Amino acid sequence: MKVVRAEKAGACYGVQRALDLAQHVVEEGGCVYTLGPLIHNPQVVSELEARGARVVAGVDELAGRAGTVVIRSHGVTPATRRSLERLDFAVVDATCPHVSRAQNAAAELASQGCRVVVVGEAGHPEVESLVAYAQEAGGRVDVVADARSIPDDVSDPVGVVSQTTQMKENLSSVVEELKRRGLDPQVKNTICSATRSRQDYAAALGSTVDAMVVIGGRNSSNTTRLFEICEAACPRSFHVESADELDPAWFSGCATVGVTAGASTPESQIAAVCGRLEGF
Ligand code: SF4
Repeated sequence: MKVVRAEKAGACYGVQRALDLAQHVVEEGGCVYTLGPLIHNPQVVSELEARGARVVAGVDELAGRAGTVVIRSHGVTPATRRSLERLDFAVVDATCPHVSRAQNAAAELASQGCRVVVVGEAGHPEVESLVAYAQEAGGRVDVVADARSIPDDVSDPVGVVSQTTQMKENLSSVVEELKRRGLDPQVKNTICSATRSRQDYAAALGSTVDAMVVIGGRNSSNTTRLFEICEAACPRSFHVESADELDPAWFSGCATVGVTAGASTPESQIAAVCGRLEGF
């Protein structure tokens, strides 16, 4: 069976950077904590835990302890950052630079007096940080999932900023709706291309193969979405977290299988899946 890997697949720049930073800290020893699971990949989180990196849900859990704390790629709110600074911890900041750019954009819009519309998933840690950065800069903030959820009372001056993983079509539809209401939004396009490029390459590959395998955490929304896209292009698609889950029966009669992976899947997991598939 021929195994073809999507041209863009697996850990994005921000996740790889967070993994490299965390692994470096763990190698140095001492007490290491991550604020929340470092990435949405249970195997990686377990491996880091086995090497001494403990996951804490929030800064409160760090009180009375010392060591090194790693901020994950989603970033944190300014209040969390200040709380960390007050503790006896070395801070390793693995906030993805694209997320930092979005945080700064949210703050900039707010400081210019704009009401800030954040296009994204309410409650997601990155979105919470964007909201907090804008609020700290004095802005009134609304999180909208799409154009339909824009509040009726939004008025100029209004600024729009996006969660980095949003689709550009969704951002555009929010901007268009604001314009349809006669407003003049200032738009900061803070979308990162990593998610979209993985989806586009996966869809293209899925339409040319007999089966697709999508690798990534079941708790990873970008991997779940990637799987849905693959399934639409190739009905014989399978979502696995690791090579052990692969069943040779799934690929009976297949000449070619495509492989892709979510942005929180490290290279080692992709290599293991490709290796096993090549042996079927
Ligand atoms: S998807 Fe983009 S913004 Fe998010 S961590 Fe990866 S590179 Fe950074």
